[in-house]
Amino acid sequence: MLLTPEDNHMTSPFTISCDHVLLPDGSVQPATLTVDKGKIQTITPGIHSPSEHLSDQLLTPAFINAHTHLAMACFRGIDVNTSTKNNMIEDLFYHVESHLMPEDVAAFATLGAFESLLNGVGLVWDHYYFGHHLTKAISSTGLCAVVAPTLQDISGPGVVQLEQQLQATLDLNSTHWNTQGIWSSIGPHATDTVSDDLWHSIANLAQTHNLPIHSHVAQSIEEFERSITLHNMSPITRLHSLGVLDSAPHILLVHAIFTSKDDMNLLSPNIHTLGYCPFSQLIFALPAHVHRWQEHQLQWIVATDAAASNDSMNLQKEMRFISGLRTLPATHSRAYNQFYHSSSLRDAKLTQHTRQASHQSLAKFSDPDFLLSRVFQRPGMMHPQFEAGVIKEGALANLIAWDLNHPTMWPPSLPKRAVAMNDSSQAIANVMTLGKWRGTHHNYHQSILASDLYKDTLQEANSRLTSLLQRAGI
Ligand SMILES: [Zn+2]
Repeated sequence: MLLTPEDNHMTSPFTISCDHVLLPDGSVQPATLTVDKGKIQTITPGIHSPSEHLSDQLLTPAFINAHTHLAMACFRGIDVNTSTKNNMIEDLFYHVESHLMPEDVAAFATLGAFESLLNGVGLVWDHYYFGHHLTKAISSTGLCAVVAPTLQDISGPGVVQLEQQLQATLDLNSTHWNTQGIWSSIGPHATDTVSDDLWHSIANLAQTHNLPIHSHVAQSIEEFERSITLHNMSPITRLHSLGVLDSAPHILLVHAIFTSKDDMNLLSPNIHTLGYCPFSQLIFALPAHVHRWQEHQLQWIVATDAAASNDSMNLQKEMRFISGLRTLPATHSRAYNQFYHSSSLRDAKLTQHTRQASHQSLAKFSDPDFLLSRVFQRPGMMHPQFEAGVIKEGALANLIAWDLNHPTMWPPSLPKRAVAMNDSSQAIANVMTLGKWRGTHHNYHQSILASDLYKDTLQEANSRLTSLLQRAGI
């Protein structure tokens, strides 16, 4: 059922109908879609003599995971507990990554792409080394991707690859790749690994080729400290002073943990999107203050980051974490601390009052439409060359068919809530990317795991991981 890269071109027109389709206005209604050239061409209300009818299913856009390093799934096999104390990125990742071969990246990224598809992800924004190998690997699975070959010239394992990575960035910006569901973006690694000169080149490239920029920013105390020590300004203020912040059609700034009020005032919801990866941030640093992002009316997406610092590529649990932020402020409140010491009814009631106040002020955080917009509409509008994350005419035909009879979706009375909050990957009946179903209907997961590409890659990745760890002395 899975396709080789050569077969991964777009299909001839077909029609599909479903009793429950999540439409752009947030309603769920019967509708009929025509799909051609990898895109949704028309949507008609109601059921009309389709070539394919999905009964007892819910059709939504496929998830968009807008910040991944798919190949880093391999780090899940390494005990990171001792490395998370200080800077996991520099202490562990850089060391092992300096021993990576391009074929390693291809094998590991293929497994990461499969894991994404199994979790209902149809499009990723990936950022990594060996851009050409990475892209071929992702494309071979049918997963769509905006690939940012990682650029760095000060430190990090990508310094020696800079020229090839710049070339890969340009090569991916082509009809050849676009028709296979691959688009390019410019991928500076972070502000402390990229020089002023390279930032200027990146800004020029973005402007000349109308490509978005995808970068980590203010992700660690070390990055922030280097920025203050070397440039006497914060990472985001530095990007502003270099003219980077208004150089691209869109800029995705991921993590933004050490971001102040002044920094946030430099950002515009029109062209800047912040990336929030809660489970990853919990491990390698601390969760960014998304309440503040909201107060500044900034736009943000939810992503998983690497499996290495997260342990899964499932976006549903990230959304559920955000929902939990409604009551978390009470746990760390002064009132609750006072209650610990006093055990008084007064302090217990004060704690409950704190809980009620944040529960009300952060009500949006458990609104399914708000949560889903972080993995559908917003990441789907960040690239100027296509639209995704929405079932509308002209958007990519990236879809999930959910089995409404599956226990993880039952009862199906609030389907959007089920998609945003449940552990319902197992209810995925099939996933379509670029107008093609990627598995067998109602046997989706097993059909992917039984494919030759998955089985062969698994074998190769196992042996490559063993060799890599030997080379790295781990
Ligand atoms: Zn990252």
